[in-house]
Amino acid sequence: MSLRVLIVDDLEFMRTVIREILEQAGFEIAGEAANGEEGVAMFNQLKPDLVLMDITMPVMDGIEALKQIKRHHQDATVIMCSALGQQEYIIKAIQCGARDFVVKPFNPERIISAIHKAIYNV
Ligand SMILES: [Mg+2]
Repeated sequence: MSLRVLIVDDLEFMRTVIREILEQAGFEIAGEAANGEEGVAMFNQLKPDLVLMDITMPVMDGIEALKQIKRHHQDATVIMCSALGQQEYIIKAIQCGARDFVVKPFNPERIISAIHKAIYNV
């Protein structure tokens, strides 16, 4: 069975870019959420194997969504997607339990290798 990934990003364009990268690599998209609140709800509902989480989003940002997911699912695997210049958020996210981060604009190989590292430890 292929790995099921939840994509959380407020930009539809960005979700589409991520979706295409993941589908080409053979992953399954469990769902797409447009903000942190939706992301937490969809995580609870869909129980994906992995979450790709944007940081800056309306309603609830990615750091808060990460915290809420981790509070109830300590083994959740979350990779943060950050823009350039968000180092302080990345450090905070890692402290809050994020497994890794990828920086936009996305390099497909970097995303895939971050996922492989997070899931398979390779
Ligand atoms: Mg955003």
